[in-house]
Amino acid sequence: MLNKNLRKLKSSLKGIQKTGIKNIINGKHVNATGRKTFENHSPVDGEFICNVALGTEKDIDKAAQAAKAAFKAWSTMPHAERKRILHAVADNIEKHAHEIAVLESYDTGQPIRFMKKSAIRGAANFRYFADKIIDAPNGQSTPDTHHVNFSMRQAIGPVGIITPWNVPFMLSTWKIAPALAAGCTVVHKPAEFSPVTANRLAELAHEAGLPKGVWNVVHGFGESAGKSLTEHEEIKAIAFVGETTTGSHIMRQGAPTLKRVHFELGGKNPVIVFKDADLERALDAVVFMKYSLNGERCTSSSRLLVHKSIYKKFVAALKDRVSKLKVGNPLDPETEIGPLIHKTHQDKVLSYVEVAKEDGAKVLVGGDTPAKLKKGCYVNPVLIDEVKTSMRVANEEVFGPFLSVLTFDTEEEAIEIANSVRYGLTAYIWTKDIERAHRVARDLETGMVWINSQNVRHLPTPFGGVKYSGIGRDGGDYSFDFYMETKNISVAYGTHSIPKLGQ
Ligand code: NAD
Repeated sequence: MLNKNLRKLKSSLKGIQKTGIKNIINGKHVNATGRKTFENHSPVDGEFICNVALGTEKDIDKAAQAAKAAFKAWSTMPHAERKRILHAVADNIEKHAHEIAVLESYDTGQPIRFMKKSAIRGAANFRYFADKIIDAPNGQSTPDTHHVNFSMRQAIGPVGIITPWNVPFMLSTWKIAPALAAGCTVVHKPAEFSPVTANRLAELAHEAGLPKGVWNVVHGFGESAGKSLTEHEEIKAIAFVGETTTGSHIMRQGAPTLKRVHFELGGKNPVIVFKDADLERALDAVVFMKYSLNGERCTSSSRLLVHKSIYKKFVAALKDRVSKLKVGNPLDPETEIGPLIHKTHQDKVLSYVEVAKEDGAKVLVGGDTPAKLKKGCYVNPVLIDEVKTSMRVANEEVFGPFLSVLTFDTEEEAIEIANSVRYGLTAYIWTKDIERAHRVARDLETGMVWINSQNVRHLPTPFGGVKYSGIGRDGGDYSFDFYMETKNISVAYGTHSIPKLGQ
């Protein structure tokens, strides 16, 4: 299978290596202004992948103007036609799922075993929102004595979408599919570390019949291309997924144009294992939710809170599993952990091993680099024990295969520890006590809670965080509330009085 994936990668990279990755504006591949580019390298082996257009304020302006010009026709297109096009996009993604998976794996270091599903999930996002198009404009009927009021939703206009590098293909579809279904046109600024599948996705959409100008892609750095997008007058809203500090920059940058923002930011999510939990299933979930996707996952449970009475047994089993995780080439289907996105990120994750030691925690597993994998940005998965709430590894987002273990005595203490961080994206609770599960879920300061489960996404449900983890919700109708304006229309029955002035 590894060889099959490598062959597929070679053929998929051919075109990209020849032409480089350009911006896509008004349906055309175009160079950045001044033909400037930056280099993209793979975290797998450090090899050069391609040159990438280095977008500037001018390129963002061209893309925003294209999105503005395309807006009227797209937002007023009959529902059935818009739905047909978005289903065709999904078909095309499914057709190219293997190609997308190998490209994503090589560009980001994410194991192919997860990227295949990720590509299919991308298609599912388009299908789900395609089917919801017919309901997108629906509002409420709120009749009064002398008036009938009803509301309707209308697409807000051209929107900017800014995405991170961790699972770029899936996250882009998650944002772009509801925006297009709502009738918005899009300017997408992908992360500079992972530009490859963003272009492939927009290409597949155009091949599937998406009109030009509806979906534009401008590559480049956050401080230039990203910033210009958030400041552009014609861009009516910014959907952003990334770091918490970047979110506050965007809020500031967008203030002069009163930008509507939707933020999906960092997390330091707790998984709480009570003594009555199904420990085998809890262990599977703890390992999966921290070490899948290289731990570069916003919803990963990076703090294990385990009851003192089962701590020894549970952590011993955990140590055994973490030591056996298979680190290797992400294109190998056997691999469970691939290289981290970039050398700077590898250094960041490794630096937290030292931070943990300095603060007095104990490294149980990993924390070094694999001897046989010197070329890429690999890290041996890390398990840190004896962590206290005051320590940095109990509070800061490491965003790698790095798990901190804390213990608790009572339910109240578990809740207090869980809520002691500034983040509030998600939490996981493991217990067979139904009353306790509900109490704890109610009292946790997070946007989402899973009980006796890993993160299993159901598209109609609200996805998002509280505190420093985000603003707004994705999924189902929640997405339409962000990408659309609600307008109220009040019609009089002709029975109400009108004050007479100037008689
Ligand atoms: P990042 O914030 O560094 O970058 C994300 C994007 O923002 C990139 O495209 C970047 O170019 C752009 N950007 C940077 N500065 C900008 C600026 N001033 N103005 C406009 N755009 C700017 O994040 P990252 O390192 O790429 O991704 C990792 C982070 O993303 C983690 O914190 C992770 O938790 C978070 N994340 C959150 C979710 C969620 O759903 N909550 C999902 C995935 C990732």
